[in-house]
Amino acid sequence: MLKNALKILNKIEENGFKAYIVGGFVRDYVLGINSKDVDIATSATPKDIMEIFKNSVLPKVEYGSVTLYIKDERYEITTFRKEIRYINNRKPIEIEYIDDLLEDLKRRDFKMNTLCMDKAGKIIDLFDGKKDIENKVINTVGDSDYKFSQDSLRILRAIRFATILNFKLSDEVKNAIINNKYLLKNLSYNRKKQELDKIFSSNNSKYGVELLLELELDKELEIYNLDKINLSNDIIGIWASLDISEGYKHEFSSSEKEIIKYVKIVLETGITNYSLYKYGLYTNQIVANMNHIDKSKIVGLYESLPIKSRKELDITANDIERILNKKKGPFLRDIFDNIEKEVINRKLENKKEVIEEYILNNYS
Ligand code: ATP
Ligand code: MG
Repeated sequence: MLKNALKILNKIEENGFKAYIVGGFVRDYVLGINSKDVDIATSATPKDIMEIFKNSVLPKVEYGSVTLYIKDERYEITTFRKEIRYINNRKPIEIEYIDDLLEDLKRRDFKMNTLCMDKAGKIIDLFDGKKDIENKVINTVGDSDYKFSQDSLRILRAIRFATILNFKLSDEVKNAIINNKYLLKNLSYNRKKQELDKIFSSNNSKYGVELLLELELDKELEIYNLDKINLSNDIIGIWASLDISEGYKHEFSSSEKEIIKYVKIVLETGITNYSLYKYGLYTNQIVANMNHIDKSKIVGLYESLPIKSRKELDITANDIERILNKKKGPFLRDIFDNIEKEVINRKLENKKEVIEEYILNNYS
């Protein structure tokens, strides 16, 4: 990946422009972590880049950047820029392309994210980013209060990086987050969810949650019981343990919403034959995981259920109507629900004669 990235830099420079790897890739390189994608900053415009890499780039016009793919490796090439005005403390509305790396780095969020690498593979550290990495601390580029007031997403990025890298937040950063946390209300639920997903699914999620609670971001994020979060290694289980604003509902697929609903129920009732039958193996495995119950035990319980669906009951609606000599009606549903429960709980054998006798005894 590094080799390809340096090739790209060289190709851009051969065409008379400046180009550097910036951001996460260089930060992770210094930390000895493999990065999935590479961000490149360049003096070339998107148009120049498309010229240089004919056929191999996809324009992302709205961000003023182009993306180049080499197999599944992603290289996002962005023109040096300086952001000027902000609306709603999010997206910059005017972007001035400038021919200067330093200015480009000033607009970035954290010092550790300003590290660059040139075409020879040499690291350029204009803002003491390496020092922060060595001290495992997150500092903003320039005034923290200004940085967070300009873009509240940076608040969650700070927590996310601190969590994943196990870094501290500097006191200045902490105070500025507290001063500006009310701006999180203007951040889309989509962005909030994306960052929270990364924080919650990190191996170091406990620390991330501690930071969120310490800085009292839970209220701004409209999570009402963050102190009760169940940090299992299943992200759906984690969300199911939370009481969150309705605003997040569009951020979950309909199947995720359904599983979350079921998990909440099974958390209340506990894992039983009935919960396995009614809500399925997957839901119950999530709950098992949350309650530190061995998953294989749950599989065994599921496999030995007397029936796995209503179709397997050895009785039909017609049978019941005939035995009771009654026409179809809501009573059928009650009977089915009850028989089903009895069979699942092994109080009633799933055998036509047995069930018929039970119905006669209890419902005629
Ligand atoms: P990762 O890719 O591992 O999530 P990253 O640091 O590369 O981390 P990206 O979102 O890929 O993060 O952004 C690339 C770089 O762009 C960052 O390192 C940072 O310099 C800058 N950046 C990204 N988002 C912001 C922001 N909201 N405010 C300021 N700078 C940002
Ligand atoms: Mg990146």
